[in-house]
Amino acid sequence: MYKLFILTLAVLNFNLSSLAAQNTVIEKSKIVIAHRGASGYLPEHTLAAKAMSYAMRPDFIEQDLVLSKDNIPIVIHDVFLDDVTNVAEVFPEKSRENGRFYVIDFTYDELQQLEVYERFNTKTKKAVYPGRFPFKKSRFKLHSLQEEIELIQGLNKSTGNNIGIYPEIKNPNFHLKNGKDISIIVLKILNDYGYRSKSDHCILQCFDHNELERIRVKLKSELYLTQLIEFPSEIKNIGQIARYANAIGPSINQVFTKDKTGKITYSALVKKAHNIGLKVHAYTFRKDVLGNFKTFEEMLQQGFINADLDGVFTDFPDIVISYVNAKP
Ligand code: CA
Repeated sequence: MYKLFILTLAVLNFNLSSLAAQNTVIEKSKIVIAHRGASGYLPEHTLAAKAMSYAMRPDFIEQDLVLSKDNIPIVIHDVFLDDVTNVAEVFPEKSRENGRFYVIDFTYDELQQLEVYERFNTKTKKAVYPGRFPFKKSRFKLHSLQEEIELIQGLNKSTGNNIGIYPEIKNPNFHLKNGKDISIIVLKILNDYGYRSKSDHCILQCFDHNELERIRVKLKSELYLTQLIEFPSEIKNIGQIARYANAIGPSINQVFTKDKTGKITYSALVKKAHNIGLKVHAYTFRKDVLGNFKTFEEMLQQGFINADLDGVFTDFPDIVISYVNAKP
């Protein structure tokens, strides 16, 4: 009887603590975001790369979003199709004047006819990361935001985990020029799938400051928002960013700098952000693009520990998760 009581308490306790963990995952001290899925191992943004990253148990899996001609958000890194698919062979007549092929000129059904490859240079036709998944091998397809959410929510159900999504609104101005309001379409889908507030395991990101502010103020989203930052000059507006966003997402070039002796050190950016209540999730940690670092471990040490980042976007979630778990 006593044993049963203890067991019941233990189960109750477990349930309570896992509930608490569910509500605080976004505020967790070090979060790992699978950048375009497990893109270090499989072609970026394919469902295979997402399923593989899921099995590594990151905190979040990222989705970059561009609308199709029929207004379906496609999970793809750029407005272009020609550097990750065989579009130039399947629809040679559909390029624009600059010779490039745009997601927005194709319906979802047309996009389904394309094969997805490892990212490649459109001029040299060579893979950007030659050490990764073999170029043009196996079979991968494009998919919608809805299909990816259903994969992640399905795995959350079947495995009992609670991994979040980290969607990015791509080029809102480009979409507007093509007559489409991508944010309204994406917010509706997120809402339909239960992502509505800061505790819903969804972080919405965008490089466009005006658009992210609009998402908070005019479109009244209560989601956790990350303002992506491409250029150091954008940091001048950090006080304004804190009014509508919960985190900033700078590139690692803004987090790390080299001092006069050539030693890598970190900038004041993270501290500055923390002082006004913003978390910092930096991109992109790649073990095959080390920049000034000698090892990936050194890069993680400098980022997570020395610079005190709250989260990192990485193509190699398994390595970063092992690193985080090994730290006290
Ligand atoms: Ca992205």
